[in-house]
Formats: sequence, C-alpha cells, structure tokens
Amino acid sequence: MSNGNVNTDEVTTEKTPRTFITVRYSDEELEQFRAVILRERNNSLDELRMLKDRLEDLTSANRAEDSMVYSMHMGEQGSEQIEKEKTYQQINRVNDYLVKLDDAIERINNKTYGVCKECGILIAKERLLAVPITTQSASYKIHKRCPEDGIDRIIGR
Ligand SMILES: [Zn+2]
Repeated sequence: MSNGNVNTDEVTTEKTPRTFITVRYSDEELEQFRAVILRERNNSLDELRMLKDRLEDLTSANRAEDSMVYSMHMGEQGSEQIEKEKTYQQINRVNDYLVKLDDAIERINNKTYGVCKECGILIAKERLLAVPITTQSASYKIHKRCPEDGIDRIIGR
C-alpha cells in the first residue's frame, strides 16, 4: 500500500511530465529555424497565388466555351473539371500547410519550437530542417516511442 517514498532511480517511466520543456533550442537557433519557416511560407504563398490564377483560368475558359459549340468540347470540359478539382485540392493542401507554418512561427515566438510534444526532448535539427512544421521527434515518428537517452536521431535504433 505504501507508495510514499518512491525512489526515482528505480522508476523508469517513459513519459514523466516533469521532463516537458526542460530543454529548448537557443534563441540564435530559433531564429535560424524562423528563417527557414518564413522562406517556406513565402514559397507556399507564391504557390497559392499560382494555383488561384490557374483556377481562375480554368473557370473563365469554361465560361468562354459555354458560348461556343458545346458538343465539340465535351471531352475537354470533362478533363478541365478534373483539373479544377485537382487545383482545389492543391489549394486546400497549401492552405493547411500555411496554417501549420503559422503555428510553427507561434512556437518560435514562445520558444517551444523543436521540442517533441510526445516526450519533451529536442527534435533533431536535420528533421526540423526537412520538416519544419513537425512537432514530433524523428525517433517517435519512426519507432513510435522516444529515445531513452533523450537524443533524437534520424536513423536510430
Ligand atoms: Zn518524443
């Protein structure tokens, strides 16, 4: 019944709440990550503009065809419809990504960026550079658990 004096050396829990956000990247490193995220954000905004232009072109092309001989363009209209659907989906994907990038900037601002939400260890730099929006360590992604030594590795065991 007694669980009063638990020796912490004997208890090896995988998720100790106390370990949350005891580590973080330095301000200098956070600014480097911010630059990566902002570059990514600009690229995504460019992509979004391009996709919206394409959608507009597809929509106005359809309207132009409405006034032409309709039956001659039936096949093309079908493929244009598919193209439009695809463009919509791409726009949604980029919008989702932009939200996640904004969340990442938020984490930079409150200095929690790069900390694994599962265990509170620092996410490997290479992983953050490759997937700037990530909130999970590579170890967690690959093995579904965080490393016992607290060091995230892209290729670990
Ligand atoms: Zn983790």
